[in-house]
Amino acid sequence: MALSGLQIFKLLPKTNCKDCGYPTCMAFAMQLAAGKVRVEACPHLPQEAGAQLSDAVSAPVSRVTVGSGASALAIGEETVLYRHEKRFEHAPGLAVLAGGSLSDVEFAERLEAFSALTFERVGEPLRPNMLAISASDGAVLEARVARAASLDAAVKAALIVMHDDPAVLRRACAPVADGRPLLYAADPTNWRDMGALARDLGAPLAVKAAGIEELIGLVEKLSGAGVEQLVLDSSPVDVRAAVRDQVFARRAAVKSRLRSLGYPTIAFACRLASDPALAAVVAGVLLCRYAGIIVLDTVDPALWLPLCVLSQNIYTDPQRPMQVEEGVYPIGEPGPDSPVLVTTNFSLTYFTVSGEVEASRVPSWLLVMNAEGQSVLTAWAAGKFVPEAIAAFIRRSGIEEKVGHRRLVIPGYVAQISGELAEELSGWDIEVGVREAVDIPRYLRSLVGSG
Ligand code: SF4
Repeated sequence: MALSGLQIFKLLPKTNCKDCGYPTCMAFAMQLAAGKVRVEACPHLPQEAGAQLSDAVSAPVSRVTVGSGASALAIGEETVLYRHEKRFEHAPGLAVLAGGSLSDVEFAERLEAFSALTFERVGEPLRPNMLAISASDGAVLEARVARAASLDAAVKAALIVMHDDPAVLRRACAPVADGRPLLYAADPTNWRDMGALARDLGAPLAVKAAGIEELIGLVEKLSGAGVEQLVLDSSPVDVRAAVRDQVFARRAAVKSRLRSLGYPTIAFACRLASDPALAAVVAGVLLCRYAGIIVLDTVDPALWLPLCVLSQNIYTDPQRPMQVEEGVYPIGEPGPDSPVLVTTNFSLTYFTVSGEVEASRVPSWLLVMNAEGQSVLTAWAAGKFVPEAIAAFIRRSGIEEKVGHRRLVIPGYVAQISGELAEELSGWDIEVGVREAVDIPRYLRSLVGSG
């Protein structure tokens, strides 16, 4: 069970020596309870209390790392059932399956298509970041794993290598063990050899069983054998069972602190729906329900883009809005006569507005004001995007040295502040722009056209 700050305090030495960097043991206890500091930061803990605290404050879902270097992907380390309680820590691995039914030519084409699957949204690169490789023939598997491991580092693909025979998996993975591939998978028939392989290679191991109950037994055997980097697969037969198992595992780990289900999971959406589009929908459902790795048998960008965006949306920290730096952003090559627009520094607002200004082909100055990453209406309602603050920002931004005119376009959603802003920002004319970003190109062209 997670401990409160007071419960943690009772286990501390209470000397207030400050060696942890905090002024009192109570301050340290509060930070520890909030997960902002590690137990080891107090060097004076008796061994028993240290072990008790480590156990109490560790994440109920263990952190597992697949891949290494630029391809390293951390999953798990989750602490909550619902994002609004705190945040979800690590976005799931998104894996493209390169299955054994592919010919050599098709495999090469799949790698090429996988490498090209890159998107960008609100300034962040998005892409599937894992490759799941299977082949029943050991020699084929070896060759394909080697080929995938030699992909350009910029592609950042952590590998999942799939075979039921530990000896075949060893031959395929030993040459690339430094890359920490996920070994798939230990099952009730091979778990001893698979566990030994995972220990020898220092690689994470997937555990596959027919349902949660069998999975728990297998995990206990493997963790008893010293294998701790595990990823769980309950082998659900349909979507309903998949969602049920995902929720059960997370709830048991977080609420009941059941260690044997406290590992990230892997979900083969492509096994639950044969149609790629339907499988992508299933993947979206599982992404919302705790899957640690999601596997799809497609390289269709139209299916991966929405999944990448969904993952980005769910796995941002709700307590930290995504934001861009305050400043004057020239779009196109604006000059002294170019329009001047102001907005807030919420990333989505900035990228949407700047994209539409760019699309208008009207060179413009976009003034992005720090509103703590809030959107225009939210910032206005919170008193952060209000006339006095906007006027102060315009004065300090330096835009008055860049343009010869004094016309400022404000977002249409805050039309009500135009009068007051005109008073605060003497010498400037305030023009009310459009409410929706999509109307910006038409608006800017009419503005320039009307001179
Ligand atoms: Fe208390 Fe330990 Fe911090 Fe010293 S180092 S103030 S004993 S928590």
